[in-house]
Amino acid sequence: MATGKFQSIGPPPEILVFVDLPEGELDDYGKGILSEASRLAKTLSAEWSVLCLADASDEVMTTLAAYGARKLILLEGPEDLADSLEVQGRLIALVASERESSLILLPHNDLGGSLAPLLAAELDAALFTEAIAYRIEAGYLNVTRQLLGAQVAEAKIWDASTPLVLSINPRVLSSVVLPGMASDQVQVENWPLSSSVVAGATHIVERIPADPQTVDVSEAEVLVSVGLGCSVQGFTQVEELTQLINVSLGVTRPAYDLGYTDFERMVGQTGKTVAPRLYLALGISGSMHHIGGIKDSKRIVSVNIDPKAPIIAISDEAFVADLREVMPLLIERVKSVSRGDGETGGAA
Ligand SMILES: Cc1cc2nc3c(=O)[nH]c(=O)nc-3n(C[C@H](O)[C@H](O)[C@H](O)COP(=O)(O)OP(=O)(O)OC[C@H]3O[C@@H](n4cnc5c(N)ncnc54)[C@H](O)[C@@H]3O)c2cc1C
Repeated sequence: MATGKFQSIGPPPEILVFVDLPEGELDDYGKGILSEASRLAKTLSAEWSVLCLADASDEVMTTLAAYGARKLILLEGPEDLADSLEVQGRLIALVASERESSLILLPHNDLGGSLAPLLAAELDAALFTEAIAYRIEAGYLNVTRQLLGAQVAEAKIWDASTPLVLSINPRVLSSVVLPGMASDQVQVENWPLSSSVVAGATHIVERIPADPQTVDVSEAEVLVSVGLGCSVQGFTQVEELTQLINVSLGVTRPAYDLGYTDFERMVGQTGKTVAPRLYLALGISGSMHHIGGIKDSKRIVSVNIDPKAPIIAISDEAFVADLREVMPLLIERVKSVSRGDGETGGAA
């Protein structure tokens, strides 16, 4: 993601990474932001520390060390700490300010996206959200985000002279462990609650996971997309499949033109840019206008009758097959697994 050498104004930057531990464990966002932190620390020649609001298990400590973390700050908060964004924001800001952290890094998920502006306000820091890329340009850190799909890019330059709160778009996060970065030991520092932090006026009542059937396709975890290779009957079967395995549905532009779905499910240059964990392309040729919108997918699997279709070459796994034969078999297989009379294979 980066080129050139960073020239810090003043002392080398110190990165503070906020890591949420739902159920006490690291999720994909946590691993993704740790991976990004180690990469960014290397690029900026910076020290970095991890901040958590809950006790870390031995397994979490081992993973932190694998990513190269050397310090873990554990906040000891009031009982309702996890329920109040304001309190979390104030506590994290307090740590960042006392440690003189110049870069506060967090994933732009439901929690990080809400905390980032709170932190920036508390710290009187610059705020840059949903970053998708960064590079070093003329000694500065230049971070970029995309707005309105791929059509508008915004960038910000930073020289470490003022604190920066930086949230990373989850779709570019990957849990890659950089080679040679592992640390021998993670030093734990308990950070007692300061009496200056008062209870917040708002509380998190519940964190409800997104419904794959209605979530924006750009945020879909597993996306099954349909192209012109699917007949109307085939499309009905794909809809049934997405409901059976509870995943999201997308379409190519011609499939949208045929009226298969609304515009917001269209994937590609004119449609949405997506980055699911799994992208299943059914009867899609793989035109550049479509590929442009799916290239950040972690895994692409395609089914196409034509072995020369361009989608085959960019797929991690491709099946040359006729969807008219595949779809009924696939649906029957899924139903049989959910009835418990088939071998489990992990549909999605
Ligand atoms: C400015 C511009 C912007 C565009 N933006 C977008 C965009 O955002 N998104 C987008 O998708 N397109 C976009 N397009 C259109 C794009 O160029 C392609 O025309 C489109 O992506 C092709 O869609 P498709 O793969 O569904 O159809 P096709 O290219 O017709 O491919 C159908 C595929 O289905 C396969 N097939 C046929 N029958 C079967 C079967 N029985 N079983 C299995 N496979 C079968 C065929 O082998 C073929 O590969 C844009 C075009 C322009 C000019």
